[in-house]
Amino acid sequence: MRKVAIYGKGGIGKSTTTQNTVAGLAEAGKKVMVVGCDPKADSTRLLLGGLVQNTVLDTLREEGEDVELDDVLKVGFKGTSCTESGGPEPGVGCAGRGIITSINLLEQLGAYDADKALDYVFYDVLGDVVCGGFAMPIRDGKAEEIYIVCSGEMMAMYAANNICKGIMKFAESGTVRLGGLICNSRNVDNEREMIEEFAKQLGTQMIHFVPRENQVQRAEINRKTVIEFSPEHSQADEYRALSQKIDQNKMFVVPTPLPIDSLEKLLIDFGIAN
Ligand code: ADP
Ligand code: MG
Repeated sequence: MRKVAIYGKGGIGKSTTTQNTVAGLAEAGKKVMVVGCDPKADSTRLLLGGLVQNTVLDTLREEGEDVELDDVLKVGFKGTSCTESGGPEPGVGCAGRGIITSINLLEQLGAYDADKALDYVFYDVLGDVVCGGFAMPIRDGKAEEIYIVCSGEMMAMYAANNICKGIMKFAESGTVRLGGLICNSRNVDNEREMIEEFAKQLGTQMIHFVPRENQVQRAEINRKTVIEFSPEHSQADEYRALSQKIDQNKMFVVPTPLPIDSLEKLLIDFGIAN
């Protein structure tokens, strides 16, 4: 089973990209589980057709020790298993800590057992690795393979660089590696070339360039992935291509984060100066 985590700045497109990639893998016959690790609990709604899931933490609060796997794991598009960790009550407790509780419970309930025959588990994680809790999936080998969603916007690249610092730290003592950057385009000038160069300087690759496309919103309002909503659309093929590249990926590295002036130079060389 490959254990994948998707990181990136809030709003960059992690949940959309994760679910569409998972739809592509599921369509190709892979057995995949998605674990949403964002208190927003919106990591699986496109795979589930909009069904609002009971999160693991809500269910724990309501049912106590009597939780069963079926209470927190729902079957979505093409047999994907979908679960949301959820968060603490607003203003109370640490959301990162909740993710730890959730993953441990899913393990205890057998979500990862061999009889589930999973090819992949995907963790869709809120952007911030600075807080220890959100680094949870990359600690203790829960996730071994990271993809960072970014764009050519400065804050997205800044966040990606910070996440690389986190990966570097955890890679010292564990097996976590970076599999690549996914550029989710914001139509910034020279974006493809800039992110390719950024990836190179980090010691990784830009695994795919996902175009910005309104079909993503059309599918979203219909509570579906693009692959389910419009399988013939070119954007569906982009997500299929990304899922195939991930499936065939062999490049797993410990990244080398950029000093801030190198990051700024990239933006100046490719962006502002052109
Ligand atoms: P995150 O999970 O990183 O917070 P989301 O996946 O929720 O981000 O995406 C934020 C918004 O961006 C969503 O409303 C989604 O429809 C939109 N979006 C994501 N990727 C694309 C894309 N390639 N083209 C157009 N819109 C996109
Ligand atoms: Mg999200």
